[in-house]
Amino acid sequence: MPVTRHTKVLIIGSGPAGYTAAVYATRAMLKPILVQGIEPGGQLTTTTEVENWPGDSEVQGPELMLRMEAHAKAMGTEIIGDIITQLNLDQSPFVAKGDSGTVYSADAVILATGARAKWLGLPSEEKFKGFGVSACATCDGFFYRGQEIVVVGGGNTAVEEALFLTKFASKVTLVHRRDELRAEKILQDRLFKHPKIETMWYNELAEVIGADAPLGVEAARVKNVTTGKITEIACKGVFIAIGHAPATELVKDVLEMHNGGYVKVKAGSTRTSVPGIFAAGDLTDHIYRQAVTSAGMGCMAALDAEKFLAEQE
Ligand code: FAD
Ligand code: NAP
Repeated sequence: MPVTRHTKVLIIGSGPAGYTAAVYATRAMLKPILVQGIEPGGQLTTTTEVENWPGDSEVQGPELMLRMEAHAKAMGTEIIGDIITQLNLDQSPFVAKGDSGTVYSADAVILATGARAKWLGLPSEEKFKGFGVSACATCDGFFYRGQEIVVVGGGNTAVEEALFLTKFASKVTLVHRRDELRAEKILQDRLFKHPKIETMWYNELAEVIGADAPLGVEAARVKNVTTGKITEIACKGVFIAIGHAPATELVKDVLEMHNGGYVKVKAGSTRTSVPGIFAAGDLTDHIYRQAVTSAGMGCMAALDAEKFLAEQE
């Protein structure tokens, strides 16, 4: 028999949005349960220095997330290491199934499932994933000491990854499809000044080339988007940093979406198209996608849930 746990508020996700919602919901005496998911602490656990979290001129991402977890725990939030695999919003209370076998029933749900790294979808990218192709420099950079590396992308993540990888690599080539980066100016400045980093404008990754036995990357074949010219860059690692997509599998066909798959919330609130379901953070936001905006929305979601539950009573 599966164990059923009832809670007034179920928070799904343990990034800045989830933990902030937990702090507020617990202080509102709602006794929430927070389910952490496959990545406890969320995206910031995959980075190093965070320099724009108010109150910390510099803090390591994983450390910041451990502090948020500790804060939620200290307030009294019940934090569970589980992954929600199914969410049924047709019935009240709402029902969520956990990978552990636990069934969670909840009067209100705060979705804070964030976003995940995007991939290019090349067959060779898939083939070498985990064998030279990665989307996380902090996780895998260490394996490329003294090697050459290619980073694909032009946003904050790509530039931060390129800079971080210079700690290990002998050379980093940033491959970007335009001649202008999306990354913040302060990061661009660091990138352009770095002696180990070369930038290849107007190029896209066409294929990852490597050996079969043992499986490993030997080069990146890139294509100039204006001339069609193919260039091979010798490298042992290819880091894909082309953005993140919202993690909305649980509610894809149930909640209203906007801008290609982000959960839609009513303006100025975290209310979704289903009453009692609230959404906060990167899974709703195609514009800002920052730790501090996610945390802000987490606060709003807890306050919105509190108001909803009071109205139900
Ligand atoms: P996330 O942090 O994405 O967390 C999502 C959570 O949901 C995870 O805990 C996951 O386990 C959980 N989850 C997902 N699916 C399920 C499920 N089915 N069941 C249970 N749980 C689930 N922002 C800044 O402000 N400053 C920075 O310096 C900065 N650096 C960054 C560096 C990198 C490399 C990246 C990738 C992002 C960076 N960001 C930065 C952006 C920032 O990390 C995000 O905006 C923020 O983490 C979003 O928070 P969130 O709570 O919405 O979701
Ligand atoms: P992003 O800002 O969406 O940038 C994605 C980059 O990848 C863009 O340069 C884009 O090119 C490129 N790209 C997308 N699809 C591509 C494809 N198919 N082929 C080749 N290139 C492709 O994503 P991000 O850098 O991961 O950042 C996500 C969010 O997290 C942002 O809001 C960012 O500010 C935040 N973040 C913040 C920090 C920080 O504050 N220090 C650090 C990391 C992330 P185009 O430019 O041509 O579109």
